[in-house]
Amino acid sequence: LPEQEAFDIEYWLLEEAKLQRMPKPKSLAGRIALVTGGAGGIGQAVARQLLREGACVMLTDIDSTALDEARQNLIKVAGKDSLGTVQADITQEGQVAAVLDAAALRFGGVDLLVSNAGIASAAPLDETTLDIWQRNQDILVTGYFLVSRGAFQMMKRQQLGGSMVFVASKNGLVASAGASAYCTAKAAEIHLARCIALEGAEHGIRVNVVNPDAVIRGSRIWDGKWKEERAASNKIDADDVEEFYRKRSLLKRSVLPEDIAEAVYFLVSDKAGKSTGNVLNVDAGNAAAFTR
Ligand code: NAD
Repeated sequence: LPEQEAFDIEYWLLEEAKLQRMPKPKSLAGRIALVTGGAGGIGQAVARQLLREGACVMLTDIDSTALDEARQNLIKVAGKDSLGTVQADITQEGQVAAVLDAAALRFGGVDLLVSNAGIASAAPLDETTLDIWQRNQDILVTGYFLVSRGAFQMMKRQQLGGSMVFVASKNGLVASAGASAYCTAKAAEIHLARCIALEGAEHGIRVNVVNPDAVIRGSRIWDGKWKEERAASNKIDADDVEEFYRKRSLLKRSVLPEDIAEAVYFLVSDKAGKSTGNVLNVDAGNAAAFTR
């Protein structure tokens, strides 16, 4: 090679090597996320993932003690400047408005919503009291409506588009015996997401759903009573619950909070910029298996 050309090639190779070593810009840098149910297992895993990807995260939960603990855990990921917490009950209109105000005051708005707060509830139909029925509707339908309506209004005002992910459940697609209140509410949650997707499109607001199934490790739902009930109804020991669900799954794998967080991150980010109104099951294949 002529001397100048060889020099140029060497120069650009060196520049390329330098670029390779430079830290990559984080994919959610500059984005503001609101995560409900943020003190729980899935909520914390989602918040951790979003913080790692550079987002500022406002975490909210009804349980203030658990929220403080979550704050201590998550502050280690990205420092306190990127993380805010606010205690609120998503079924209360005024409290939801206060959460959105807190996000606006602290970070300047909301671009990403992960609507994840929830409960687990099982009772045979003839033992499902109106209270049980109403509690499921209040948290999983009305709560999701209130939070997403507030975020939708804010995103529209900001005129920057936005992205929402609802953490629903495989049981919103596939019925489960003895849990009609929960399954019905989760199905409504999924349909609410699709309805918002239709209205959001013209404003650049995408809405998608992640459906977990049996995320036992890390989930507060599976602490204590719920685990014991599930163990009793499947005639197994409470200590064997995770292994039972793993073996029962199509892929023979346990679903972890981090698996849900990966799916939420994908859908909420620009990587899924052409997906809206979609449902992604992260269920080790169970929705497919149960409809075989
Ligand atoms: P989790 O109990 O660890 O977290 C849920 C959080 O929601 C809790 O911290 C709780 O305090 C909060 N919450 C409940 N009611 C609230 C309210 N009214 N206002 C504000 N916060 C409220 O449970 P998780 O496993 O992390 O569940 C997260 C979501 O995933 C829920 O919507 C749940 O229904 C769904 N899900 C979980 C599983 C599973 O097996 N863990 C399976 C399918 C779906």
